[in-house]
Amino acid sequence: MLSISNFHVSVADTPILKGLTLDVPAGEVHAIMGPNGAGKSTLGYAVSGRPGYEATEGTVTWRGEDLLGLDPAERAAKGVFLSFQYPIEIPGVPALTFVRTALNAQKRARGEAEVSAPEFLKQVKAASKALKMDFDMLKRPLNVGFSGGEKKRMEILQMALLEPSLLILDETDSGLDIDALRIVADGVNALRGPERSMLVITHYQRLLDYIKPDKVHVLAAGKIVASGGPELAHQLEAEGYDKYLPVAA
Ligand code: ADP
Ligand code: MG
Ligand code: MG
Repeated sequence: MLSISNFHVSVADTPILKGLTLDVPAGEVHAIMGPNGAGKSTLGYAVSGRPGYEATEGTVTWRGEDLLGLDPAERAAKGVFLSFQYPIEIPGVPALTFVRTALNAQKRARGEAEVSAPEFLKQVKAASKALKMDFDMLKRPLNVGFSGGEKKRMEILQMALLEPSLLILDETDSGLDIDALRIVADGVNALRGPERSMLVITHYQRLLDYIKPDKVHVLAAGKIVASGGPELAHQLEAEGYDKYLPVAA
């Protein structure tokens, strides 16, 4: 399972996460909800090892192994995958090349053989078909000129090929219409399984109609301040985050 204990993270010397504790057992999907600026994205970045997110205290382990001592590529090799709120565009690199490079980097880090070109094409064609993506789109530079929905499908495609064991989705629902949301949710739900854990970060309840969480946590001011079942998400949708916001002194 994912076990986060008393986690403190600073960005540019400013403390953002302040003693966050959270366990996600294998096979479970936990939602992280919270007001803007609470530290939700910081949590995703810090667990995946993004440079600039400095862990100053506490522990993060995945399947019993410390993650904080590993660089992002090593974490990815352990199965950690972060889906971004704002996917990056890479002008010079065709999407296909990018995905194959990521897949082979993961394989190398695991000491496995790289995937052959024909085998990769077979896999990527099957995955793009399942996601109703036009295969020719994958020959274009990564995410350049892609719509919001196309970028999300692109991420789900990467996910389907990399088969992460710890999946973190950060505001994957932002800017998606209902059809795109369903495709994303189907892609994520297809990855659900007894070995995988997922953290679904979202500001809104809507995504959780499609990706049903086992538990819901409220992250406010750098900590988990409330936890419950899916009903907590509905309560937040109805009541907002006011009661979790710091009261001005
Ligand atoms: P959320 O995803 O919950 O909206 P974030 O994790 O993005 O929140 O941000 C949490 C806090 O950290 C915010 O107050 C934000 O302004 C601050 N923050 C995020 N990134 C940086 C940065 N690169 N430099 C300084 N402060 C940052
Ligand atoms: Mg935000
Ligand atoms: Mg965020």
